[in-house]
Amino acid sequence: MIARLLDALLLTERSCLHCGKTFKPETQGYLCRSCLLSVRPAESFYEPPELPGLDGLEYFALYEGALREAVKLIKFKSVKPLACELAERFRRHLKSYLDELGVPFVTFVPTHFLRRWRRGFDHNELMLKCAGLPALKLLKRVRYARPLAGAKKEERERRVRDAFKALGTLERVVLFDDVLTTGSTAVEAARVLKAAGVKEVYLYALALEPPAPLPPP
Ligand SMILES: [Zn+2]
Repeated sequence: MIARLLDALLLTERSCLHCGKTFKPETQGYLCRSCLLSVRPAESFYEPPELPGLDGLEYFALYEGALREAVKLIKFKSVKPLACELAERFRRHLKSYLDELGVPFVTFVPTHFLRRWRRGFDHNELMLKCAGLPALKLLKRVRYARPLAGAKKEERERRVRDAFKALGTLERVVLFDDVLTTGSTAVEAARVLKAAGVKEVYLYALALEPPAPLPPP
């Protein structure tokens, strides 16, 4: 990571981890500009999962391509500058969702402090900060859980049970999270927010895991 960041500072050519083309890094040495610009609002509509306790749901794009690469680099390789690059992509889309609902604040699914300490930042919080949107921390993660990637729905639900504590309440709020898979995390976060007095919780996911293709007949 250090080598790539140094390269970004020195503008040494790197090859893009997604498409393989060489590019001169501007803020980071991982993904080229055209891959970053390919991260756009989803054009095709996939039906997101039914999520109890949520009053509405919007997502920015599907969890695939350069977006998937970027999220993994941010979360698992601690590539901080990519969080702000992504924020630049979804900022207007999330802002129009807030405006459409008339909800003034966005909150987020927080990272456990141990993971934040290891990564160096809370990626959801950082993305909202970079996006310059009015964000409030209403939840604290009080239970450390292994990453949910790859786990089945029941296992995900078990791992996120009682994972959050409310730090405050608002009448209506948009909850931001990075990747929506089964929705177990968002459902648990919404349950805790509602128990603390929030009347309406809307979910905005940066990326929706596309449904698995049907098996061949
Ligand atoms: Zn590329």
